[in-house]
Amino acid sequence: MKDYLKKDCTRLKDKKLFLFDQDGTLYNGDTLFDGAKEIVAYANQKGKGVFVTNNSSKSVGDYVAKLKNMGINCQESDFYTSTDATIAYLKANHPQKKVYCVGTDSLLAQLKEGGICLVQPKEAEILLVGYDTQLTYQKLVDASWLLTTKDVPFVATNCDLVCPIKFGFVPDCGSFCQMLTTATGKKPTYVGKPEKDMVQFALQKFGFEPSDAVLLGDRLYTDIQCGANAGIETICFLSGEATLADIENYPTKPTFVFENVAQLINLLKN
Ligand SMILES: [Mg+2]
Repeated sequence: MKDYLKKDCTRLKDKKLFLFDQDGTLYNGDTLFDGAKEIVAYANQKGKGVFVTNNSSKSVGDYVAKLKNMGINCQESDFYTSTDATIAYLKANHPQKKVYCVGTDSLLAQLKEGGICLVQPKEAEILLVGYDTQLTYQKLVDASWLLTTKDVPFVATNCDLVCPIKFGFVPDCGSFCQMLTTATGKKPTYVGKPEKDMVQFALQKFGFEPSDAVLLGDRLYTDIQCGANAGIETICFLSGEATLADIENYPTKPTFVFENVAQLINLLKN
């Protein structure tokens, strides 16, 4: 048996910050997994449960409504998104700089609220690309113009190439960035999972130490890699994308592997 499958899990009982991926971890589409409500309640009793998401197209309000509909009690302050991490990243690395953002109205509103100065391409000092479900060809032209003629820093909210949807997948932020890289030769700095910033800014925001935290997810190259990059322990559930064979073949291993959240909550309560 592999190390990550036979590890003593009792130290999970000492964790205080539970960073939850959502789709594939707590639910699949609109179907909540058994044990999901219990694990979120357990996290909040121990310290805090935080929902982390790379999706920069939706507002946190949309996610709160979705989870509440499925019976999980939560509020906006329980979320940490790639948009939150991007605001923290821009403030830390490019303070006061003017940003042209390729993003949804919801992303633009959140950036403004977060104190980011948004401008039209001509005035911009930074290009930011998000998961823009309102993408137009003109926005791609403007972004290419900025990268080519002004050579501005190129920042992107998340590296995901695709986003799951009912019939399969649609292009996500990483795919838009690949188009821009193909056209201009410029590569973005990504901020969301698996970059360590996503966890480290969340630890700062909620006031926990790395040893207090565990990241719970189902995707190796975003969730598990993110926890590893940030130096925190991780749990991979086999209820979503990753299979045991994938874990076997992926160089970064999760600290723990469980079938699903029901198996984890059983262990934590006994
Ligand atoms: Mg997931």
